[in-house]
Amino acid sequence: MLSFRGGIHPPGMKDLVNGRAIESMPLVPLYRVLLQQHIGAPARPVVKAGDVVRKGQVLSEPQGFVSASVHAPTSGKVRGVEECIHPVTGLASPCVVIEADGEDTWVEGLPSELDPFSMEGSELVSMVRSSGIVGMGGATFPTHVKLSPPKDKPIDAFIINGVECEPYLAADHRLMLEEPLRVISGARVVMRILGLSDAVMAIEANKPDAVDVMRREVPGSIRVEVLGVKYPQGAEKQLIKAVLGREVPSGGLPMDVGALVHNAGTCAAIWDACSSGIPLIERVTSVTGSGIREPKNIRVRIGTPLRDVIEFCGGVEEDAVKVIFGGPMMGIAQYSMDVSVTKGTSGVLVLGSRDVDRSSYTSCISCGRCVDACPMGLLPNVLSKLGERSMWEEALSFNLMDCIECGSCAYVCPARRPIVHFIKHMKALSREASAKKRQAV
Ligand code: SF4
Ligand code: SF4
Repeated sequence: MLSFRGGIHPPGMKDLVNGRAIESMPLVPLYRVLLQQHIGAPARPVVKAGDVVRKGQVLSEPQGFVSASVHAPTSGKVRGVEECIHPVTGLASPCVVIEADGEDTWVEGLPSELDPFSMEGSELVSMVRSSGIVGMGGATFPTHVKLSPPKDKPIDAFIINGVECEPYLAADHRLMLEEPLRVISGARVVMRILGLSDAVMAIEANKPDAVDVMRREVPGSIRVEVLGVKYPQGAEKQLIKAVLGREVPSGGLPMDVGALVHNAGTCAAIWDACSSGIPLIERVTSVTGSGIREPKNIRVRIGTPLRDVIEFCGGVEEDAVKVIFGGPMMGIAQYSMDVSVTKGTSGVLVLGSRDVDRSSYTSCISCGRCVDACPMGLLPNVLSKLGERSMWEEALSFNLMDCIECGSCAYVCPARRPIVHFIKHMKALSREASAKKRQAV
């Protein structure tokens, strides 16, 4: 079966939600829509306190090409542009706070009826851009940028990523089962934009029902490939290696080897934008883990407060000790309940005390397990020792920036070393130094 070198086999833990149909979460009284929900320049707000907004209305305009707008998740009144806790950085970050009016009225002209297959590629890319679509697997890179490769980097291979290799999460799995045509049609729009006659849909072997549905529904131009179950099979570079046999070079991008990857949720959002003009105002996410009373897959508006999500899922168990946005491997632990759902929130994982390891870490025993597990061929043992001493410049020569932060090394480490934390710390120091250097020029 297709796969890649390295990687690990953590327990899937998907049974809590993978058999549960997607439930639409009802409206809540207040939404906090972060302006920075993407990689790139923050968006600039175009509304102010007191403005009345409708569902789908633009709240912020992108600044520059690598940026993305955000839209009102429902109709109501803008309370203001306030500072909210960002679930990824943990820092205060500007967000538009909307007091919902409960009417959920669309902005004029939406939804509309469009035929994307009669439109030019450039027109479709512009619709994707104005709809604020970003990679919904968690990477949050603006989708229109990936759909606009430079002339010297033509794309000849497109992979629809239905792998969802993070333990616990099943949002893309449910989407492929319940709404396969949204995913497939969005993928066909991408093929039209790039002038491709074929594509590959990649699904891990632990989702045989999704494989069946997709094989039944896809047109002849899309081939469904079943991949071996291994983490991080869904990471772009590993997926490209497994499916196409192409190696993205160190420091490079998928386009350097002619490849493009979009996850299933992103394809569905592309379809909504190009067939109805509907911007990205909601997503499917798995709310799961031993610490949540009623694990569910929910369709939730962007900006919905975490507290409301938890309440809709029956509240937390008494022994709940940790909330993570995303999965247990690459997700971010939250220190406050005052965060809100973003475009990249692929899951809300609530762990009970029995699932949380509180032991402290010790010195590296040079067992080499992390080296075997690293899917990027790095030396996590060396990186972790350098990270402990903040030696980021030395770490650069060990390809620090190639680390995809998958957590495979930390998962296998018998010394419980927080290798990814050390690596993130060094990357932050390196970026800070580069920014200072740019300012000085
Ligand atoms: S060093 Fe980075 S890429 Fe390698 S296993 Fe650790 S987190 Fe993953
Ligand atoms: S797995 Fe942990 S103990 Fe073993 S070599 Fe890597 S960092 Fe050291």
